[in-house]
Amino acid sequence: QTDVLNAKESLSEFQPADLRNKFLELYHQEPLVVRSPGRINLIGEHTDYNEGFVMPAAIDREILVGISSAQGPKATLYSVKHDETVTFDVNNPEKVENPAWANYLLGVVRQFVDKGYDLKPFHAIIGGNVPTGAGLSSSAALECGFAFAVDQLHGFQVPKLDLIHMAQWAEHHYVGVKCGIMDQFSSMMGAAGQAFVLDCRSLSYRYFPVDLKDYTIVLCDTMVKHSLANSAYNTRRSECEKGVAILKEHYPAVRSLRDVTADMLQAHRDEFPGKVYDRCIYIVAENERVLQASEDLAKGNLNAFGQRLYASHDGLSRLYEVSCLELDFLVDEAKKFGGVLGARMMGGGFGGCTINIVKKDRVNEFIDTLKAAYQHTIHREMVGYVVALKDGTSIVPLTAKEPSLL
Ligand code: ADP
Ligand code: MG
Repeated sequence: QTDVLNAKESLSEFQPADLRNKFLELYHQEPLVVRSPGRINLIGEHTDYNEGFVMPAAIDREILVGISSAQGPKATLYSVKHDETVTFDVNNPEKVENPAWANYLLGVVRQFVDKGYDLKPFHAIIGGNVPTGAGLSSSAALECGFAFAVDQLHGFQVPKLDLIHMAQWAEHHYVGVKCGIMDQFSSMMGAAGQAFVLDCRSLSYRYFPVDLKDYTIVLCDTMVKHSLANSAYNTRRSECEKGVAILKEHYPAVRSLRDVTADMLQAHRDEFPGKVYDRCIYIVAENERVLQASEDLAKGNLNAFGQRLYASHDGLSRLYEVSCLELDFLVDEAKKFGGVLGARMMGGGFGGCTINIVKKDRVNEFIDTLKAAYQHTIHREMVGYVVALKDGTSIVPLTAKEPSLL
């Protein structure tokens, strides 16, 4: 496999104070600062667009947005990472050819305009330390952080659920990625120390504490993204739809794979062409695993939880076929390493990160071992991050200036 699109930058430790300083330097004004986290998904992969269940949580890697009113007639967006400014009319935010990052934000502004909010020109700057394209959803963090910042600056008090949909709209219509709702939902609604099970059909959700005792969550970034990812995503979506169409003939109440059981699939196995049966059986099993995994965590049964992660990976790799050499390699290495309860690929697949439940006192050894093995066999650098679960999108309280000692 040689179609590796990009090796990603390693993490910079960009902090709210850095963003504020940049804002002061550019606009000589005190900004309102908003943080919006990236997210992980503990289990429940490719289930969102099948109206099933996912188990995401917001993490301690975040996009930061600084914003204040502008004096002139135009609004500006500045990306610290790209060191670029985009100027636009707040009442007519058009999609742009370049730079790509601006469309995530312009799409959000378009939603405020279309919904009749009276926007005033502003300066906004964007920074942060969510690695991009690693499956941690920097794009949703960006949209959500910015939507919340625009709302707070104007005092509109748009409900968070509406902001989530506005963020998703921006990604669909200004970026052109037909994402589910999980990413925006997780970034906006996360809670410290907690994950939640989200029902992607009704959008009902239930928080629960994630107490991993002597274990912690480690992400291993393959640093690859194979070009197959987008086309495979679309093919999988249509394979799932095909499966639903076949089952509908027999069970008219079936609207999505969410409504299907393994027995129903088994009873009509001969009717499924090509790989459609394997795709469907994976989705049905994965939905079941999410619900069982939340019970495992509630009971503190971490071994069972870890085994479900391995089972999820196995299904994604063999039945759903969205893994790749690099992801399979890292999951196999994790399995070989003592002190890991479970591991699996996370996100759409064909690259990005694996998620691993690792014994706290062995984390450094774990990362070093996998790094060395990855370098030796894949000839590429792996990056490991330990993540903690954090609150969703919120204002950063910046400490007031020290009173001068006159
Ligand atoms: P991910 O899996 O991280 O969401 P995407 O390809 O969906 O990957 O989104 C990544 C894109 O989001 C980047 O290419 C960039 O356009 C935008 N983005 C992410 N983080 C930043 C940032 N800190 N500053 C500016 N743009 C960003
Ligand atoms: Mg994204």
